[in-house]
Amino acid sequence: MDFKLPELPYELSALSPYIGEKTLEFHYGKHHKAYVDNLNNLVKGTKFENANLEQIVREAEGGIYNNGAQVWNHTFYFFGFSREGRKEPSGAMADAINKSFGSFDQFKEKFSNAAATLFGSGWAWLVKNNDGSLGILQESNAGNPLRAGLTPVLTCDVWEHAYYLDYQNRRVDYIKSFWNILNWDIISKRY
Ligand code: MN
Repeated sequence: MDFKLPELPYELSALSPYIGEKTLEFHYGKHHKAYVDNLNNLVKGTKFENANLEQIVREAEGGIYNNGAQVWNHTFYFFGFSREGRKEPSGAMADAINKSFGSFDQFKEKFSNAAATLFGSGWAWLVKNNDGSLGILQESNAGNPLRAGLTPVLTCDVWEHAYYLDYQNRRVDYIKSFWNILNWDIISKRY
């Protein structure tokens, strides 16, 4: 399978000032693209040559897993954003958040804290458990909850490349901005 960098559903300037155009130019245009290119090179001649991306995320190890999961994670991350759309969850998604965390504000606080305290590079995840309840996970490096059989709903990239051009070392300020550009119409469909 020839993996492709998916085209973003918005302009590179669309998330500014929360995530600046320069950040997207590098984060999407260079980092995300490099994971796609690396993956295409690494799968050649292996049993994953004709696998789809989800299979790679679930089953691969080493470099194929790392690059495949980073492709999946970045696509999931970038596609949860837009300047339009609902700013808060609604319907079944809102009910599940209230049931699992008490309120949307309490969920935001817990998720923000997970993103802020993750040591080093990685991803904070909101996941749907098999019983429909929601959980928050911290995953290092390319970690992805699909491997544990969970359903990813929302993710925040806390690798420094996600925020350094806009916020330098201030990861907490990046996480505060993150909430302003989420599109809950899209995220709610993942639940
Ligand atoms: Mn990243």
